[in-house]
Order: sequence, then structure tokens, then C-alpha cells
Amino acid sequence: MKIKESVSNVVDLTLTTVIESNPEETTLRSPLKEEVCVLTEEQKIAAISKHVKAIMDILGLDLNDKSLKDTPSRVAQMYVKEIFSGLNPKNSPQVTLFENKYHYHGMLVEKNIKVHSFCEHHLIPIIGKAHIAYIPKDYVIGLSKISQIVHYYAKRPQLQERLTIQIAQALKKVLKTEDVGVIIDAEHTCVSIRDVEDTCSSTITSSLHGKLKEKSTKEEFLNLLKISS
Ligand SMILES: [Zn+2]
Repeated sequence: MKIKESVSNVVDLTLTTVIESNPEETTLRSPLKEEVCVLTEEQKIAAISKHVKAIMDILGLDLNDKSLKDTPSRVAQMYVKEIFSGLNPKNSPQVTLFENKYHYHGMLVEKNIKVHSFCEHHLIPIIGKAHIAYIPKDYVIGLSKISQIVHYYAKRPQLQERLTIQIAQALKKVLKTEDVGVIIDAEHTCVSIRDVEDTCSSTITSSLHGKLKEKSTKEEFLNLLKISS
């Protein structure tokens, strides 16, 4: 009941509206076609399934084999409903803000948010963690919504650099504050499992804004993560 009373601002806008429809932020958009895709989810699954089947056939796999016969539809379902679900604006999280009635103006850090994304150059996984910091002004956000925003932008073919900035921009707009920081530390399987087989490396990106760019605040963020600056 108390929580209900404190709800003062329901941000009922898709994050697609925040990022992808803003003409000033075209460089942050995922490279989507201009024309709107009118296919339903089921139509997309049927069409993708056909193409996966063709690829497997060209590779010489026997699609009559019991173990393989359902692979095309399984892959198509996974593309549309799971790993690339962030391409569909219908799946953007509905974000509810709560009034910051405790006047908490310290830093809030949500760390180790899982990042399961896909490299847009090879369509194989990027696996890592996102660490988010923000300094609340008039509103605070439900913590699970921070994870949902990360997952929404991760579940599409991505570049880690773009993913990091998209999450930061979305949080700034939603939270109505510039004081936002995003760090992503991830392994790119296109580096670790292909010819290079560099299994030790990880890629770290950051997008720091407002007070999070200032030396002392940045250090506080990094110290809270126990990452030496
Ligand atoms: Zn790659």
C-alpha cells in the first residue's frame, strides 16, 4: 500500500521512443530498416525457419535426421522470441518511477547485471556484466527495471560500444537526470572461440555522464565496484 501511494510518475513510453525516434540521436540507433516490418511473430518464425533449413542443407546436414529436423524452427523461435526480442518495440520495458521522498541523493549502484547479447558482425554471443550508477534527483526507479532496460538493449545484434551508450541514454531520459554511469565488461565469443582463441581477454566500455564524469564521483563508482581506477 505504501509503495502504491508513492508512485507519482508512470513513464509509459517505450524506450524505442526515447532513443530510436529522436532525430538528434540517430548515431545511437540500432541499424534498423527505415520501413516498418509488418510481419507477425509467427510469420517471422516461419520465414526464418525456412532460411535456417536452407543454410543447414547447403552445409550438407541431413534434415531428415531426428536430431536435426526441428532445429530450423527451434532457431527461428529463439531468434524472434528470445535472443533478438529487443528488436521488437513491443518488448520494451514499461518503467515506473517513484517519488524520491526520502531525498536520497547519494549514488545508487546496481552491479553485475547479466549481459547476454550478440555481436552484430558474427551473430555469436557477447557475455558479460553491466554495472550501472545513478544519482537520483526527484525520482527513483524500481531496481528490476534497470536490469530490464539492460536486457532490452542487449537482446539484439549489437556492438558493445553502442549498447553501453544506449543504456546510458535511456536511463538519463527515464530518470530525468544527467548523473548516470554505465560500465560493461564482456567476453566476445567471436574473439574467444574463433581462430584467435583468445580466451583471456574481455572488453570494457563505459558511458559516464553528469556528475559521474567528475573525478571524485567516478572514483566512488569504481571503488564501489572494487575496480581500481
Ligand atoms: Zn564479432
